[in-house]
Amino acid sequence: MNNQSPEKISDILQKNGAKIVACSFVDSAGVSRVKAVPINKLAGAVKNGIGISYTFAVFGVNDHITSAPGFDTPSGDMRLVPDLSAAVLLSGAPGWVWAPVWQYDQEMNIMPVCQRHFAQRMVELAEAKGISFKMTYEVEFTLLDESDQPVGKGLPGYGIVKLIPVETFMIKLTEALESQGIDVSQLHPEYSSGQFELSVDPRDPLTAADQFLLLRQTICRIAQQHGFRASFAPVVIPGEVGNGSHIHFSAWAGGKNLFTGGNGPQELTADGEHMAAGVLKRLPEMLSLLATSVLSYERLQPSNWAGAYTCWGWENREAALRLCKGTRAIRSKAANFELKCIDGTVNPYLVVGILIAAALEGLERKSVLPEPTQINPDDLTEDERDKKGIRQLSASLQEAIDELEKSTFVRKALGDPLYECYLAVKKFDWECYSPMTLEEMVEDLRWRYA
Ligand code: MG
Repeated sequence: MNNQSPEKISDILQKNGAKIVACSFVDSAGVSRVKAVPINKLAGAVKNGIGISYTFAVFGVNDHITSAPGFDTPSGDMRLVPDLSAAVLLSGAPGWVWAPVWQYDQEMNIMPVCQRHFAQRMVELAEAKGISFKMTYEVEFTLLDESDQPVGKGLPGYGIVKLIPVETFMIKLTEALESQGIDVSQLHPEYSSGQFELSVDPRDPLTAADQFLLLRQTICRIAQQHGFRASFAPVVIPGEVGNGSHIHFSAWAGGKNLFTGGNGPQELTADGEHMAAGVLKRLPEMLSLLATSVLSYERLQPSNWAGAYTCWGWENREAALRLCKGTRAIRSKAANFELKCIDGTVNPYLVVGILIAAALEGLERKSVLPEPTQINPDDLTEDERDKKGIRQLSASLQEAIDELEKSTFVRKALGDPLYECYLAVKKFDWECYSPMTLEEMVEDLRWRYA
């Protein structure tokens, strides 16, 4: 539908049953927000946007509003412009269409705080250097039943019996996703009570971020139709292993996957190594964009396969950066890095954008990787880790915010307005939630991310 006029696309959608279009964005607290228009107003929305307050640049996760320079009054009207090239008829919600939006101002200039545009800018920066990326999020979630109990409670992690209560749900979910253009690659019952995982095929970074949102919203919708509720919070059941939303990424140039087929460590090409090294180097300061909530740090613990240490390794599930090579036969396509220290509280556009920025910096500086780590870094003494240059990532949102506040790299990549709004929102989240007990945080936050 890419090259057609908004009127033509509206017409096609309407002929296919569309009645209302949900136009949505994710704010800097990681919450998806929406304004909807009837289908006959869609073409107008593409031209002039849908009005929403500037304050959405500084909304906290609890719906209270903080402030940042330029975003400190109730004045100002942002225009949400649906991207019809990504519009999808929702399966399981007849008559509804979903479309991600760009954030413009009333002069129809892109807002510097538009997270999706930041991602797009980084993709274009990479393209200008002849590099493209493929990415996908792998989503873990907890299903609770009508009595708020984890589905399949007491059944074994990865156990086949844990699939039985969700068999129909999983079929309906897979069908819904595929009809919405999302190709499911795998699903399984995960380790913790009520926990499941679903992964989808890689796409270009912007589409991967769009699909992350569509995937989660579809999980919620189909779950509700089966009497379940789905939570993507990093911790849903205190004391158990939490929910991650790891991102897998590969970098390509001239049709070749740069993470395999080279002479570097583990067959990395030189450029592939530079990019991975760039990401590894910047992890501590970009962590608050990857693990964005007070709750994130309850999940990001050593020995939970959450990637709590700044190291890389071949198929090492304790390394923040895990090289997944794939089997020999498919390696040239499949080789990728998995960044594990990410959870479901993220703004997916900020993640893909900052990842590209770090990779490109590594490429430019010809950064090199340290020795791979093949053991659990938590089994080393602090001294041993120091010698290997391995650091434990921040242990609290406050520590991650301190790193962000010092980071000229993140500030430069995001640009001042987006960086300042993001920082303000994170500080506000910390202020609101840090006095709470873990149970209170979970109670307040578990349904906010989707
Ligand atoms: Mg998993």
